[in-house]
Amino acid sequence: MPIESKDIWLQHITTGQSFLLISHVSPDGDTIGSVLGLRLALLSIGKKVSIVCDGEIPSGMRFLTGSAAYLKPDQVTSSYDTAIAVDVSSPELLGDAISLFEKASVQMVIDHHATNPGFGEICWIRRGEAACCQIVYDALRELGIKLTSEIAECLLLGLSTDTGHFQYSNTTAVTMETAADLVESGADIAKVTRYLYRSQPMKRVRLIKAVYQKMRFSCNGKIGLVELSREDMEQAGCTSADLDGLVNLPLEIEGVRFAFLASEREKGIKISLRAMEPDTVNDIAVQFGGGGHAQAAGCTLRGMSLQDAAEQVLKVLEAKI
Ligand code: 5GP
Ligand code: MN
Repeated sequence: MPIESKDIWLQHITTGQSFLLISHVSPDGDTIGSVLGLRLALLSIGKKVSIVCDGEIPSGMRFLTGSAAYLKPDQVTSSYDTAIAVDVSSPELLGDAISLFEKASVQMVIDHHATNPGFGEICWIRRGEAACCQIVYDALRELGIKLTSEIAECLLLGLSTDTGHFQYSNTTAVTMETAADLVESGADIAKVTRYLYRSQPMKRVRLIKAVYQKMRFSCNGKIGLVELSREDMEQAGCTSADLDGLVNLPLEIEGVRFAFLASEREKGIKISLRAMEPDTVNDIAVQFGGGGHAQAAGCTLRGMSLQDAAEQVLKVLEAKI
């Protein structure tokens, strides 16, 4: 059984010498901002740090300091004593980096997912916290590490994406205080949000058009869903890295309480699920072997067609309503 302890976690940051920080597959702003912020912080206190992700970094996040340092799992050659899974809700979301995690002398986790069972050896999990970046921020404050403007920018990005730019119900007064301190430390909020929300590449606009074209509804408009085939992605000139956030589009429509996006991936049919408070979807994701947050969760269905996978999830949602 892993030890869940903030103090032991922080102590191992101090005693470790070389670190491998791991982002989850289909990386989002929170796992990237947390890893890049933590990387800069550890470098500033003289540690050796490598970072890895089994996935592509979305183009709108590549302005962050250190994003070019990300390695693919098969590119990691340096040794490290400590591996940290960052914003990773379960071991399978490490993807091909799982063997790199397992061979570390010390295996650590920092996360905020309600469904995280605890894995590795030393976990710091604040289930239900708005973003992993919030926990990384608290870690740096506890360790007395100076927040440079680069670190602050990384953490602000993750805080922004996991709270829907401070719009979701997980946004608390503490979130706003943290954001204020990050801006005070030099994070440029206009720059971060311009890259995130006002610099869509044209290929993503083509993908958004396809999403609206494919969007359909069930249960009198209470469920909005989108199925995207490999062909749809190719026609838009996009990869799965361009899909981040698009599942939210049906939820912007009046009356929609649940949304999901089913997309064809190499390893199966990925389902991204979203709900409007107080409705939840992590119960549904868990039912299909996945997990996540109350209102944002996901799973992968294997060995079936895109249509069959979407139909299965739709049935479960309809039954819930
Ligand atoms: P997204 O739909 O944006 O990929 O994921 C939403 C949330 O659910 C994220 O916090 C993500 O970590 C979690 N999630 C997505 N897919 C899976 C999965 O297959 N397993 C688990 N445990 N969590 C997932
Ligand atoms: Mn997160």
